[in-house]
Amino acid sequence: MRSRLVAGNWKMHGSLAANARLLDALKSGLKPGAGTVFTVCAPFPYLAQLAAALSGSQIAWGAQNVSEHDSGAYTGEVSGAMLREFGCRYAIVGHSERRGLYGENDGRVAAKFVAARRAGLTPILCVGETLEQRERGETESVVARQLDAVLSVSGIAALAGATLAYEPVWAIGTGRNATPEQAQGMHAFIRSRVAERSKDVADGLTIMYGGSVKPANARELFAMPDVDGGLIGGASLVAEDFIAICEAAAPR
Ligand code: PEP
Repeated sequence: MRSRLVAGNWKMHGSLAANARLLDALKSGLKPGAGTVFTVCAPFPYLAQLAAALSGSQIAWGAQNVSEHDSGAYTGEVSGAMLREFGCRYAIVGHSERRGLYGENDGRVAAKFVAARRAGLTPILCVGETLEQRERGETESVVARQLDAVLSVSGIAALAGATLAYEPVWAIGTGRNATPEQAQGMHAFIRSRVAERSKDVADGLTIMYGGSVKPANARELFAMPDVDGGLIGGASLVAEDFIAICEAAAPR
């Protein structure tokens, strides 16, 4: 049985004091989830705070980005080895905000995925279509292109034990989530695309849904057979909302 995962993406939010309050509330409110992993992905300057605060707790932590390079003259970048050195477990790769606002194309996302793997991190690979692409009927072809770009560079073996997040761009931060049926349709599409290369890898692949997940819609989204948890933005900054969403991800 594949594991379920709920990951909070704090984006560029937080302060030492606000993070401490949020982490304290999560540590006391989150029951260890049998078969479900909980993680929070914070801005780089706060990762040391997470490492200390979450040590020995039921909550893992991760970064929101990682360089495609291992070291060198890349001002402002952070390598996978640097993250791994002090206990980071996850790295978000190819979030639509990085693709859209910072020009990360499929090739760069693939290189970041491979670099994260090389460093021993678990990449959370984000894929998803814009509203215009959906309206033009291109949803599957866009997601297939994003996925194939990574597979062709990393090979299918690198997807074993990795995680994916299907995040329709039109649902991120908009309050308009995909319906459970829309999410299920795309998750099944992604899994079948991976199964063309390896059924075992596809069956074991954790695929999260992301895009305006809230306590009110989490349960019905996570009840879908191919939805294995969620990547949560805004609601991950509110302890009681994130805890409720994590509880909704309990194994079916
Ligand atoms: C995200 O940032 O990945 C995300 C899904 O954001 P939100 O939950 O706020 O839509």
